[in-house]
Amino acid sequence: MLEKTLKSIEPLISSSEKNSRFCVGCGEPATNLVKYSTDGAVILEKYCDKCAKAIEDSSPKYAN
Ligand SMILES: [Zn+2]
Repeated sequence: MLEKTLKSIEPLISSSEKNSRFCVGCGEPATNLVKYSTDGAVILEKYCDKCAKAIEDSSPKYAN
């Protein structure tokens, strides 16, 4: 399994993202775009406010 490092959490506002606007954590409508960096790549995942907050809270590197 790749190790992911949280890079940023941004509001999901782009209309081009509307294809799959569902939180990958719980399936509710997603409102945040979460960026992770892995081995040489950036992974984008969409999350609702609740799940994005949980990710932020559990990511010490990002919290500060
Ligand atoms: Zn969610």
